[in-house]
Amino acid sequence: MNSPISKIGLDGRDFYVKRDDLIDPYLAGNKYRKLYTLLNTPSNRLKTIISYGGTQSNAMLAIAAMCQKKSWEFIYYTKPISKAIQNENSGNFFHSKRLGMLHVEIEHEYYRDFIASLRLNLDEETFIIDQGGAVEEARCGLEVLAHEIRESGLHVNSLATPSGTGTTALFLALCLPEYNIYTTPCVGDVEYLRSQMRALCELPTNLIILEPKRKYHFAKPHVELLHVWQKLLTTKIEFDLIYAPSMWMALLEQTKEDILYIHSGGVSGNESMLERYKQKGLI
Ligand SMILES: *Cc1c(COP(=O)(O)O)cnc(C)c1O
Repeated sequence: MNSPISKIGLDGRDFYVKRDDLIDPYLAGNKYRKLYTLLNTPSNRLKTIISYGGTQSNAMLAIAAMCQKKSWEFIYYTKPISKAIQNENSGNFFHSKRLGMLHVEIEHEYYRDFIASLRLNLDEETFIIDQGGAVEEARCGLEVLAHEIRESGLHVNSLATPSGTGTTALFLALCLPEYNIYTTPCVGDVEYLRSQMRALCELPTNLIILEPKRKYHFAKPHVELLHVWQKLLTTKIEFDLIYAPSMWMALLEQTKEDILYIHSGGVSGNESMLERYKQKGLI
């Protein structure tokens, strides 16, 4: 079933929102799209999924939800984590473990080599998903999203989606050459984003990277981003606190035309992120 499209007003402008956040509480947004190929793989074809990365990652939670549905074992490697995260009873890490994720900590000094060695002893029933799901297999699910956007008949020429690895924005731009695809880097700067994307393929000309006016550290509390997020709440749609505020800030400041924003989910992480804003006295 196609995810619906909502219309919202913001700063006196109309925007459209593709509600990929509504697909599933945990397995939603662009993570659902990126895992599409695996989701459509017969359960008996695989036994184990391996991934690695951050402990608040939306990708981690989506993979955990997928593995529970498919009855696959899920092993997730991270650097050593704090007591605070271990003891949390909300947020992505907590929910992923509840969904059956096996979490393994790797000491800082061995982490890089360990991750590089994962592929060496792979059997046919094990699949590795690189950090954030930045893999060629992600393309197939984004083709499905592209098809839904075309089919909607909505009269807009521009789409927007914030970037971590840039996989979503890049594949969308390739699948929808007749649209402008706006994105903005949430991890690192524009050059870093470009290099991440180039590792997947050449950048198409309809992909437009908007440069943030100021630098924000990834997944750290920033009062300006909180204010944008709070403004977004007035639309009655909840967005994620990590990626969405930067993208909306850039769209409001640097564009004028009608835009369809792809809601990439991630709201499950808001609970623990809001807690951090509270601890910093920003709320
Ligand atoms: C993962 C994620 C992104 C980044 O997606 P990439 O394909 O890595 O660029 C953006 N927004 C949300 C809400 C996410 O969870």
